[in-house]
Amino acid sequence: MAQKRSVRDLLVFDAVRVRRARSALPSARARLIKLLVLAIAFCSLTFLLPQFPTLPISPSHQRTLSPSPPSSSPSPHLHISQSPSLPSPKIHPLPQSLAQWQTKNDVGDYFSQIQTTSVGYLVWSRFPLKIYLEQPNSLDNSASNLRFQQWVTAIREAIKEWNNYLPLVEIEDPELADIIITRSQVDREIQLDPETGLYKIPRAITAQTTYEFYLSSDTPPILGHRIKVQISPDLGKNATLTTARHELGHALGIWGHSDRETDALYFSQVSDPPPISPRDINTLKQIYQQPTRLGWEINN
Ligand SMILES: [Zn+2]
Repeated sequence: MAQKRSVRDLLVFDAVRVRRARSALPSARARLIKLLVLAIAFCSLTFLLPQFPTLPISPSHQRTLSPSPPSSSPSPHLHISQSPSLPSPKIHPLPQSLAQWQTKNDVGDYFSQIQTTSVGYLVWSRFPLKIYLEQPNSLDNSASNLRFQQWVTAIREAIKEWNNYLPLVEIEDPELADIIITRSQVDREIQLDPETGLYKIPRAITAQTTYEFYLSSDTPPILGHRIKVQISPDLGKNATLTTARHELGHALGIWGHSDRETDALYFSQVSDPPPISPRDINTLKQIYQQPTRLGWEINN
């Protein structure tokens, strides 16, 4: 019998950020970043670990407002400028791998559960997507290094699985990456429940995916997005793989959850996690047929 762990997803912050991307050239001038609007959202899997006391936490999707942006907030040297008009939402050509995708039986999808953002669906349009994966600093055979290597191997397995549906490539420079995956703990913030007046201590968060928007250094600039995925170092090999599979689904555009535990993007975690399902890919394919402002030129 599948035993569910108590899990909830937490949507804590929602704003809009557009900034000029750092140029691939190592020039300080090229790194001038223009802040226009700010948008970050995140979705995180949280687990109630045995060592934490049971707390009166709502099991439902939760949204709270944060007075200040998280660590990816703009540096002080950024400056506000006049806002050019955003591109109008348009549909990108369907990536070949998704265009060829068909299921034998009509298994359906969970597209109705997918959230859009202030600039449309989180659709990528330039492939292969560049993924940076954090690596250990040294190559020694210490126990901690071996655990790190095991973490890297599990994440690479998840990347390989999704690569069957959208072209992905691992790169070594995080500055150039579309998706950055780090091995780190996700900070927990104590929140005040406005209804009860009591503080709520969030459950341990094992993974978190966030997005931000920026303007590329192309002429004219293109509205792009960048994804950051944090995955805990404390998970076992299989849990790391299934967590990475789930979070990469968000990173590729599935910004929402399935209500069936046979899908990788099921909102909760189960003891026998499924592989990427036909319903996951049907949903992904639907998303990539939606209009978005992302990937199109900004017109002044
Ligand atoms: Zn999720």
